[in-house]
Amino acid sequence: MHIPRSHPRAESLYIRERLVRGYKEGLVVEEGLLAHGRGEMFDYLIGERTSKASHEAISAAAQMLLSAKHPVISVNGNLAALCTREIVQLAKVVGAEIEVNLFYASNKRKRAIAQAIKRNGANKVLGLDSKFSQKIPGLESARRVVDERGIFIADVVLVPLEDGDRTIALKKFGKKVITFDLNPMSRTAQTADITIVDNVTRGMQLLIKTCKKMKRSTLRKNFKFHNKKNLNQSILLIKNNLRRMSRA
Ligand code: ATP
Ligand code: MG
Repeated sequence: MHIPRSHPRAESLYIRERLVRGYKEGLVVEEGLLAHGRGEMFDYLIGERTSKASHEAISAAAQMLLSAKHPVISVNGNLAALCTREIVQLAKVVGAEIEVNLFYASNKRKRAIAQAIKRNGANKVLGLDSKFSQKIPGLESARRVVDERGIFIADVVLVPLEDGDRTIALKKFGKKVITFDLNPMSRTAQTADITIVDNVTRGMQLLIKTCKKMKRSTLRKNFKFHNKKNLNQSILLIKNNLRRMSRA
């Protein structure tokens, strides 16, 4: 479908196209398309751009990733469809492992996602070989499987567009969790250590840029980041946008 650049929703329509392509290529499931719809709605409410609060969360995420001993990027179908190149770039910049970890697990889909990531330059993608499967406690069977070389031993996990149950389980398992989630009220957003309330398509690029600029030698030890306060700024932004619209 041809979308004219001048279309007021051009960017969000391009993002939809990418997701639909990912669906046709076997990376994304139907449920993923629906989850994207929820995200789109919140993107509309925040004004479809990266807010000041989200810029601050991105800086904190860059600090945490660069200071990590064993960072892992957890990849699901939607992320693979929307940010294939960025996943590989970010992994290289911060020295992270990439692990495919699906809510609706299927080996065929895992392989399709891993191939898409490898085509974009990754040498190694974890989460496919059952020889290395381990279980995180507190979740029912299929959703708890992680790779013993990846999330299982990670200190920091980036889990964009993640489900609340899994985020809570990762926290209970002692991981530091960073997420991208357009809904500042979701359980994932509220549970993570750092929530970047931004469309992952914008946020991942900014996170890569920020990590590149931030030198490891200038990293602050024990930096403080108040996720709840930061999330409240996003909720306030939505409230103000709604108030403005209802006044007009
Ligand atoms: P939770 O389980 O955390 O309470 P949920 O059940 O509402 O949240 P899920 O489907 O489990 O939602 O997770 C998907 C999350 O990802 C949603 O909060 C949705 O807003 C968000 N999301 C979807 N697409 C994007 C995107 N492109 N960028 C950032 N966030 C997105
Ligand atoms: Mg959920």
